[in-house]
Amino acid sequence: MIEYKVLSRKYRPKKLKEVIGQDFSVRTLTNAFAKEKLAHAFLFTGIRGVGKTTIARIIAMGLNCETENKPTANPCGICSNCKAILQDRYEDVLEIDAASNTGVDDVREIISSLKYRPSKGSYKVFIIDEVHMLSNSAFNALLKTIEEPPSFIKFIFCTTEMQKIPITIVSRCQKYNLNRVTFAALCNYLENIVELEKLDISKEAIRVIARNSEGSVRDSLTILDQCILSFNNENIDVESVNQTLGLTSQSFLLDLYINIVNGDIINANKVLLNIYKNGGAPKQIIDDLLNVTYSLISSIAAKKNMEIYEKEKFEKIIDKCDIPFLNQVWHMLLRGKDEINKVSHQIEALEILIIRLAYSSQLPTLETVVKKLKEDNNDELSLNVKDKNIGNDIKKILDAFPEGKILKN
Ligand SMILES: [Zn+2]
Repeated sequence: MIEYKVLSRKYRPKKLKEVIGQDFSVRTLTNAFAKEKLAHAFLFTGIRGVGKTTIARIIAMGLNCETENKPTANPCGICSNCKAILQDRYEDVLEIDAASNTGVDDVREIISSLKYRPSKGSYKVFIIDEVHMLSNSAFNALLKTIEEPPSFIKFIFCTTEMQKIPITIVSRCQKYNLNRVTFAALCNYLENIVELEKLDISKEAIRVIARNSEGSVRDSLTILDQCILSFNNENIDVESVNQTLGLTSQSFLLDLYINIVNGDIINANKVLLNIYKNGGAPKQIIDDLLNVTYSLISSIAAKKNMEIYEKEKFEKIIDKCDIPFLNQVWHMLLRGKDEINKVSHQIEALEILIIRLAYSSQLPTLETVVKKLKEDNNDELSLNVKDKNIGNDIKKILDAFPEGKILKN
């Protein structure tokens, strides 16, 4: 049997030029290599799975690659040093997870090993992952060393929480802030892998994966892996991805939304109960509705094309709403998310929320009421709110919005 290698390992970049979505950092680092202006210490920050330790390992390889006689940004990956580093068995490249080695003793151990020259290549490289987890005394012990390390030592720090690292450390490092990888770059990347792996997966499904990875390459590959395992690489579509991620079936979700915007309370609740029966958790359903609402707003406001949704149904909803209404839905959903925690039967709270949403879709929004009043009065509104004789138009607005309150300036 062939061993299944997870995609994030299989496609881990081995050269700086293979790293995706970090053009600025990659360019700066490549220049630093070319001009031989490499710092003693590097600091990489960014969310999970954007390439921090990947780049750290490439630097470690680039410093020790035997193919060129000087450090290179694009190590060969096949010489014995490169190979050993890739396989985690190169004794001069030490990767430490600060989350489990937080103490000053761990750091002292590193420091005491610094006096020995590298046994094989040109540099000893210490990669400290999640470096923000180190204790204060550990940072202090480290500080003295990174001020003036021996020339054959390089430190590479990686962190998701830059603000927790003492400024004294930060100021002694060459800093690289890794971005979330853009949606477009992730889609491109995944499409490439799909082709190389000959995967049977639709473009829309790839978009759903990219969207749910929130800019993390590793997350996107992990989701793709999971889909392949769950569906045996057979016809993976949007619904397969939704199922893998525990998201609400998109088709049902849009049906629910259509019934809400049509004010069809009975059918909205029928669809809701169907989603619930299929295993949808009330909180997740609210999150998914928030997602659709976000997409509708961006689609209208920024004229963005939301290609991850079934076109026909999505457009049916857009025809029926405007931004003020969607804004109202957004706030009602957020409030509903809070309320749901206060009841023992979450689905009942969600049913009420759906009824409220469907009901409110049939009411005019504040903007339309004000617009109508302005038209009726030639733009002259009676808006007195200072004394007991509140303006007529304010009264009309309050009639339309019984829950409305006059806030004092
Ligand atoms: Zn090499």
